[in-house]
Formats: sequence, structure tokens, C-alpha cells
Amino acid sequence: MSTSVESFADLGLSDTLLKTLTEIGYETPSPIQAQCIPVLLEGHDLIGMAQTGTGKTAAFALPLMEQIDVKLMKPQALILTPTRELAIQVAEALQTYAKNLPGFHVLPIYGGQSYTIQLKQLSRGAHVIVGTPGRVMDHLERKTLNLDNLKTMVLDEADEMLRMGFIDDVEWILERTPPKHQTALFSATMPEQIRRVAQKYLVEPREIKIKSATATVAAIRQVYWQVSGMHKLDALTRILEVEEDFDAAIIFVRTKTATVELADKLSASGYAAAALNGDLNQQMRERVIEQLKSGALDIVIATDVAARGIDVPRVSHVVNYDIPYDTEAYVHRIGRTGRAGRTGNAILFVAPREIRMLRTIERATRSPIAPLTLPSRADVTNKRVTDFKAKVAEVMNAEGLDFFANIVSQIAEEQNVGAEEVAAALAMMAQEGKPLQIAGEDPRPAPAPSFERDSRPRPGSFDRDERKPRSNERFDRGDKPSFENRGERPRREERPARSAPTGDMVRYRIDVGRDHGVQVKDIVGAIANEAGIESRFIGRIGLFDESSTVELPAGMPAEAANALKRTRVRGLPINLRPDEGRPDGGSSERKFDGERSFKKKSFDR
Ligand code: AMP
Repeated sequence: MSTSVESFADLGLSDTLLKTLTEIGYETPSPIQAQCIPVLLEGHDLIGMAQTGTGKTAAFALPLMEQIDVKLMKPQALILTPTRELAIQVAEALQTYAKNLPGFHVLPIYGGQSYTIQLKQLSRGAHVIVGTPGRVMDHLERKTLNLDNLKTMVLDEADEMLRMGFIDDVEWILERTPPKHQTALFSATMPEQIRRVAQKYLVEPREIKIKSATATVAAIRQVYWQVSGMHKLDALTRILEVEEDFDAAIIFVRTKTATVELADKLSASGYAAAALNGDLNQQMRERVIEQLKSGALDIVIATDVAARGIDVPRVSHVVNYDIPYDTEAYVHRIGRTGRAGRTGNAILFVAPREIRMLRTIERATRSPIAPLTLPSRADVTNKRVTDFKAKVAEVMNAEGLDFFANIVSQIAEEQNVGAEEVAAALAMMAQEGKPLQIAGEDPRPAPAPSFERDSRPRPGSFDRDERKPRSNERFDRGDKPSFENRGERPRREERPARSAPTGDMVRYRIDVGRDHGVQVKDIVGAIANEAGIESRFIGRIGLFDESSTVELPAGMPAEAANALKRTRVRGLPINLRPDEGRPDGGSSERKFDGERSFKKKSFDR
């Protein structure tokens, strides 16, 4: 990794936050965190050039949380984000980091959400507000949001806010913040207008930029798979099975927790796998590496720090299961393969929103990374059958088959069948632990990635009426269901072309999200078809990386619930269950006759 700071404890964070970071499995600070956290803790303004995936959220969230007086139930930090999705994501991150701060409250506010609910939440009080510019502006104008106690202001993804036309709103807000506060501005790029805003509103800011040092990579085959339509774990096992020349692999993940979870899952699937992370003492680490060398282990799942300097020639593959924070970490990771003159293979998993990081790595390493087509079910089956045949052929050449040949003859005679049928039965028995045919469906191919898309809304796909003059009439209509509201809207594809339901809604969580290439229309379609709920009765849908939330009418009949339990989206089981964590913390006010919203439908299939 590119930084010499090895520990969060060196950055000046409180014991409470350090404890939390350990609990959530963060082992070392990412480069942007290592550089920004001390500067922000010292109270300086800051310009951070960093994109999604670098760990920038924690880079600003942790220092601002240190400044919060939990006893004072007033907004003390305001974070502006370009989209409602990002607002929710950042609020969720803060809530995670606040797990040992009882009473800490963060509130996301964004356009498209009911004003009544927001007003109630604002009047209850929050320490941190994460909001989109238009809605924050509305609340400031109407004096439903008061920034008198503001200590920190963060502009997240400032270039996106510019691209989406929110920069005037951002300036409007900046002009109305109390003069004495700290400001941090994060942006992946630094266009002239953003620089101008920084000059005008930031006071002697420190500038932090994570350099993408150019580096050459050895002759390693580099490929990436855009995460889509399948869980990463399923994709990983498919890939590992059919990769040519597979001998041993190091799989990189971000957290200590993830090393253990993935090692457990791979071991359960029959791989000789173990975790390698900073929780292991030196002796245990050495033991894992020795086992990898000797062949007692084939797969080691590691964090960056724990894998530093590993030199095991038989490592044929490096898998970047979680994308690294920067190019240097990438180069270091893939350097664990292709050693001692052998061929190396580097496989990178890239979520749609991480495409920008992929391009940065390609540019910095000056080597293109080719897309990898995920092996199909047929590919995996063929490979398993080929291996199986080879094993059978090997046994057929072995001594001492006569005894068994005799048993086969006896069975054939007793059952009055041919030897082929007996052999088929034995083959079926032999594959019981690891079936030759894999279950599940092949995912649909991912949409072609593009550098610019990065899963953020394009200006054209946005409803810009949030820039129209704000009127009381607009405010009064605020209690309309979310998708009918004006103001910032979710991306077009996230806004079903239907009016939102009115009535009691229950929020559920499902196990598919953006990382699986899932879009709102997939969720609406699956639920409408499987549970017989007309799409107009499906409420708000929140897309997250690995999961999503969906609001459905209260009073769901048992057969509809059962049908939804079996429902798959993009080939993945959704595992629908009531959602516990509610980032907006609000309860729906709407009254609704739940029963009537479920179509009569036959569920016995
Ligand atoms: P961000 O760039 O802020 O969107 O963060 C990207 C991902 O990295 C998030 O899933 C974070 O939870 C994770 N993350 C951030 N910092 C760390 C860290 N120091 N160690 C492990 N994971 C991290």
C-alpha cells in the first residue's frame, strides 16, 4: 500500500471509534484516510481528490464524528451529496461508525421523500444531516433546518454536483452557513468551477491527492469481471474451477471479517482455504504461508497488509475480490503471482460503480485489463466431467480392479441390467459430494461498462424541476407519495413509471443490489409477477450495493409472502424479509387497504 501509516491508532482517533473500526473489521487506513484524518482532526479545511472506492467516506466521517456533542441534539455537521442514493449510503456508513456512540443520530434528507416525514424527523433532531442540495436548500429557506451549531460541512463528489447542475444550490447553502466551521470538499476531478468554489469558501485548505503512481506490471494476464447477475462468491468458484493452470490463489478482500467469512465459505465448498489477516500473530501467519507453499492450502484470503511481501512461487492466481483503494495496492497485490519466472493471472472484480477505478488502474499501469466472460454452467459442467473422466481412467489403470469388476457383474446380473447402467449409478454416487452439474442459472451479460457512466445519473436523466422557484404550494403538496414529489428524483431507471401507493407500507430487505447488476425495474417486475402485487402498489425501492429495500403494502397474504420467498431476480434468490435498519428512520403515514392490493392469484405451482 502506498502509505506508511499502518494503524488507525496512529491517526489520533478516539478509543471509541478505534474500537468500532476493529469491530467492523477495518484493519488499516486506506491512503486517503491516512492522509485526511489527521488534517481534519487538527481542524483544517481540506480538498481531497478521491473517487468512490478509495475509502473517502470514512476519511471525512470519522473526524467529523469526533466533533459531535451527542448531548446537543442539533445539526452539527452537514454533508452534501449529489444523489439521494449517495446520501443514504453515506448516512448508513455514519450509522455503522456510530455503533458505539449511543444517542448519535444521522438523518438523510433528499428530494422525492415526503416532507411530512422529513419535518417530523428534523423536529426530532439529528446530529448529522446528509442531504442533496435542493432539499437542504428547501429546508433552510423554510427554516426547518437550522445550521447555527454547524461545526463541519462536507461537499462529497463535488464534481458530480457540478455536472448535475447543483453548484449554484451548493453555493447558496455555503453562503448561509455560519462563518466558523470546518469545510471539506471531496472530488474525483478538479474542474475550474470547483476550484473557484474551494477558493471562495474554504480557508487555507490543505490539498490531499492520492497519486496514481505509474507502475509497470510484470507479464501477468490481467482480466476483470464486472459484478453482475450473480453473487461474487458463486462467480469466484465458477472462475476458479475452470481457470487453466490453477495451482494456488491469493484472494484479496478489504476487511478482516471478510477474510474469515470467505475462508469459511470456500472451505465449506471443499477448497483448502484459510484466512490471513492482522489478527493472526507472526507465527500463525508464517504457518499459513508455509501451508500455501507446501500445498496443504490452495487458497489464502488476505487483507493488503497481511499479504505484504508474500513470495510463494506456486501462486498461479491473484483475485481482487474487493477492488483495491489505489493503483499501488493493485500492483502490489498482483505482484504476488507470476513469481520465479512462472505465469501469473490476476482477476479483478469490479462493481458497476467502481468502473472509474478500473480505468485509473489501467491508465496508471499502462496495461489494458480485459473483460472476463464468466464461465457458463455448461463450461463448469464440461470441466468437471473432463476431470471426472480423467480420474476414472486413472483408477482403471490401477491394480486390483478385479474384485470390483466382479461386484459390478453381480449387480448387473441380479438387477437384470447392463454394466453401463451399473456404472452410471456408481458415477452418480461418486459425484455426491460435488455434483458434476451445477445448479442455478447463467446470469445475463452485464451492460458494457463506460468510463463516464459510473452508475451516476446523467444530467439528461434527471428531473430538474428542483431548480424552479420554490413555492408554498410545492411545500404543501409535500406529503404526496414519494415518486410523485417534485425535487430531486432518483435516477430515471429507479423511478417506476407509476404513481406511488398510498397506505400502510412495510419495508423489506432483499439480497440483490447494484453489485449484481440489478435495476429497479427487475425488482418491480419480479415482485409483480411472483406475488401478484400490481406494480402501482409497490412503494419506494432503495438500491444498495449488495442488497435493496422495497416497500410493500401491509397485510401481505401468506401465499404472496411464500411466493416471494421463492422469487429470484437476475437468477439470485431475493430472501425477502422485513427490514430492520431504516436509514430515513421514518414510518410511513399512509393508510392502505393491504388485502385489496394483492391480486387474486393462484400460487400453487
Ligand atoms: P468509499 O470509497 O468511502 O465508498 O468506501 C468503499 C468501501 O471500502 C466501503 O465498503 C467501505 O466500507 C470500505 N472501507 C473504507 N475504508 C476501509 C478500511 N480502512 N478498511 C476496510 N474497508 C474499508
